[in-house]
Amino acid sequence: GGTIGVLGGGQLGRMLALAGRNMGYRFVTLDPTEDAPCGQVADEQILADFDDVEAARKLAARSDVITYEFENVDAHVTNILMNESYVPQGSELLYTTQHRLREKRAIEAAGVPVAPYAEIGSAAELHEAVIRFGTPCVLKTATGGYDGKGQWVIRSLDEVEEAYETLSRAKTELVLEQFIHFDKELSVIAARSPRGEVKAFPAAENIHVHNILHQSIVPARIPAEVQQEAEQLAIRIAESLGVIGLIAVELFLTKDGQLYVNELAPRPHNSGHYTMEACRTSQFEQHVRAICNLPLGSTELLTPVVMVNLLGEHIEPLQSLIDQPGFLEAEDIGVSAKVHLYGKKEAKEKRKMGHINLLASNVQHALTWIERTSIWESK
Ligand code: ATP
Ligand code: MG
Ligand code: MG
Repeated sequence: GGTIGVLGGGQLGRMLALAGRNMGYRFVTLDPTEDAPCGQVADEQILADFDDVEAARKLAARSDVITYEFENVDAHVTNILMNESYVPQGSELLYTTQHRLREKRAIEAAGVPVAPYAEIGSAAELHEAVIRFGTPCVLKTATGGYDGKGQWVIRSLDEVEEAYETLSRAKTELVLEQFIHFDKELSVIAARSPRGEVKAFPAAENIHVHNILHQSIVPARIPAEVQQEAEQLAIRIAESLGVIGLIAVELFLTKDGQLYVNELAPRPHNSGHYTMEACRTSQFEQHVRAICNLPLGSTELLTPVVMVNLLGEHIEPLQSLIDQPGFLEAEDIGVSAKVHLYGKKEAKEKRKMGHINLLASNVQHALTWIERTSIWESK
C-alpha cells in the first residue's frame, strides 16, 4: 500500500491510477485543469500549475512515491519533489529525455544507432548541414515538441531561412536529422526496477496520421529476429540509462533491416495501450511495479491486437455505432473491441479522447474491423 503521487493528470495518469488502485495504492495527482482525467479516478487532485512550488510541496507531503506522466517537468519542481518525497525515477532520466540532443547522445552511448544529426546554431549552419545530409531532412526543436509540433521537414535549400526563423522562435536549441526512409515505425516499452530487473513488451508496429499515432499493431508484421532485436535495443537503453519505471523507445526500421531510435519517453506511452488487454501485465501495472520495486510482471502477449486511437472527431461516429450488434463483438471475424475513454468532456479535433483495443486471432482481422467501421473514414 501507500500513496503514489502523479505529476500530470492526463489519460496516462488516469490509466496508471486505475491499475495501481487495483494493487492497493492510493493516488494523488497535480494538474491545473479542473476534473482532469486522472483527477477523476484519483483519491485527490491538487489543482495547480506544474511550476507552482507550494503545490509541488503539497504533492510531496501527500505521497510516499512520486512519478510523472510527461517529461517536461521543471528542474526546480523535480528538486522539491526529490528533497521532500521519493522520486525513484530520479532527475537524470528527465534531464536526458527532455532534450533531443542529450537524448541522442545517451542513446549513442548505449551503443544504439540514431539517425545522423547535427546541432544547429544559425541559419548558416543549417544551410551547411542540409547540404551535407541532403533533402529531405527534418529540423526539430530540442525541447517541448510533441505530435510533430516543433518540426519542419526541409525539402529544398529554399526553405532553410523560413524553417530556421520559424523554429528558432521556440527559444531552444535546434537539431537537424537526416530523413530516414523507413519501411515501418516501431516502438518498444521496457521496464526496469531498482533491483535491476528489466523486461520489454513486444514490439508494436505504429501507424501515424498527421504525426499523431493512429494504430499500433502487435505482433508487428516484421521478422521475429527484428522484433527481438528491437526489444534488445530497448533493454540496452534501459540498462545504460539506469532507467527506473518505463522507457518507451520509438524506432525506425528500414527496408534493409536497419533499426534507428527516433526518440524516448520515460513514461507509459500511447503505443503501449495495447498491453491493457493483450498482455499478461499492462504497461501501467508494470510501471507501478517498477517504481515500487516489486517483481516485474510477465510481458507475454496473450493475443494479437490492434490499438486504434479515438480523437475528438471520432467520438460522434463512435456514439452512433457503439450499441449496434456486431460492433463490440464482431463474431464473423472473431474480433472483440475493448473501448477505453478518458473522461474528457470536450471532444476537440485531434484531441486524444480514448482508444479501442481490438483483440483477434490475427491482426488482419482486427484491421478488417477498422476498415469496415466508418469512424476513421475522415482521417
Ligand atoms: P510524439 O508525439 O511521438 O512525441 P514528436 O513531436 O516528438 O512526436 P517525433 O516522434 O520526433 O515527434 O516525429 C514525429 C514523426 O515524424 C515520427 O513518428 C516520424 O513519422 C516522423 N519523423 C520524425 N523524424 C524523422 C526522421 N528523421 N526521418 C523520417 N521521419 C521522421
Ligand atoms: Mg516526442
Ligand atoms: Mg515520437
